[in-house]
Amino acid sequence: MRRLRNVKIVATLGPASETYDMIRALHEAGADVFRLNMSHGSHDEIREKHRIIRQIEKDLASPIAILADLQGPKLRVGVFANDSEELEEGAKFRLDLNSAEGDASRVCLPHAEIFQALKVGSSLLVNDGKIRLKVEDCGPDFADCVVVAGGTISDRKGVNVPDVVLPLAALSEKDRDDLEFVCGLGVDWLALSFVQRAEDVNEARELAQGRASILSKIEKPAAVEHFDAILAASDGIMVARGDLGVELPVSSVPPIQKRLVRKCRFAAKPVIVATQMLESMIESPMPTRAEVSDVATAIYEGADAIMLSAESAAGSYPIEAVTTMNDVAVEVERDSTYRQVIEASRSAPRSSVADAIVAAAREVAETTPIKAICCFTESGTTALLTARERPRVPIIALTSLRGTARRLALSWGTNCVIAEDVSRFKMAVVSAARAATQGGFAGPEDQIVVTAGLPFNVPGTTNILRVAPCDERLIFNME
Ligand code: PGA
Ligand code: MN
Repeated sequence: MRRLRNVKIVATLGPASETYDMIRALHEAGADVFRLNMSHGSHDEIREKHRIIRQIEKDLASPIAILADLQGPKLRVGVFANDSEELEEGAKFRLDLNSAEGDASRVCLPHAEIFQALKVGSSLLVNDGKIRLKVEDCGPDFADCVVVAGGTISDRKGVNVPDVVLPLAALSEKDRDDLEFVCGLGVDWLALSFVQRAEDVNEARELAQGRASILSKIEKPAAVEHFDAILAASDGIMVARGDLGVELPVSSVPPIQKRLVRKCRFAAKPVIVATQMLESMIESPMPTRAEVSDVATAIYEGADAIMLSAESAAGSYPIEAVTTMNDVAVEVERDSTYRQVIEASRSAPRSSVADAIVAAAREVAETTPIKAICCFTESGTTALLTARERPRVPIIALTSLRGTARRLALSWGTNCVIAEDVSRFKMAVVSAARAATQGGFAGPEDQIVVTAGLPFNVPGTTNILRVAPCDERLIFNME
């Protein structure tokens, strides 16, 4: 599916988007990646959505990435005898391991590890941060708190503990079970929630055994603090602004977003900016001006992808939300300021032949009227390095591996084509020229850049750059 923009769109699927027709319409409107949220829905429902996406991919011959988002170690309180209670500011409230139903003075928090980690002065946030508790006294099985900000607390509300690194396993029992299930189905990306350290990523990678790439969601202060190590251990990143804005002051989210997006670009790893991008479109066909501006900001910053959550999963206007993101992206990327910003922020360590080749390809695109950069890539690395250059012309990634094509659907500007295995360079140029003309990127009179590695099919060998015609007769006349 040819797009007129480089930034990619991730759409979360849910009750508002579960039929073939709806998911296909979302893809046609602009969704490049579909997110399956493992916090909701049974395995049967997930299996059905997965089947539909793969069917659409086949019907449209268009590689689509599937991202399975694991729930992670989300903490929740137990239940109340009266379903809910009002907590008044200044009141005392106890959290403990007693499984009895809660009341206005206490409730169960069934996670023994938390009590080990809490200290006097620690903050506990309940219900998306609406209620704030401060620990005044604590032991191995209780925490006596004072209510700093009051509100209604009810059954199984989520709890955030921002200022302590919790000695929690990165993956719960449910996560392990879900991971095995989705890897069995075949997904391209696994997103890990509430990552705190690089070891959490390594643990998931061991379980995935190469069956999916690993994307870390940055939504805890500890993850921001250990970001460089987490980035090094991950294949991609999500700036998960929902929980991040609960665990840290909301005002710190924009600078963190800017810093993380920039670091990911330098590392040539895809980064998604997520949550509340078009929140009002859950109920309205028109976004607010502030939301449009937020989407535009993420694109100006150079994010690889922007994401819809409830807007596409549970809202009344999923197609309109994707269309809005698409339209904003086309407009922003046409703006000359966008190119200036993207070019001014280009600086990356160059230490390999591949780095030099992709930089040269971008320069050829800047100085001559070539129409596309076609790169042969098996692991996807050369395509990621090319995307890091943020070239002026489209990137066509040619690969014989379907998994690589799908995975790259998340990366800035990459148009993926499954190419037959080529063993001779001349044939590679022919396939590239065909991909460029058939995809509508170039005409027969145009020229393209082709990058490849010889010998073919040995990862990490990119060592050729050729400016080639798209006219096959001219290619065959090349020496
Ligand atoms: P979630 O993650 O939607 O799974 O909570 C995204 C976020 O926290 O922003
Ligand atoms: Mn989250």
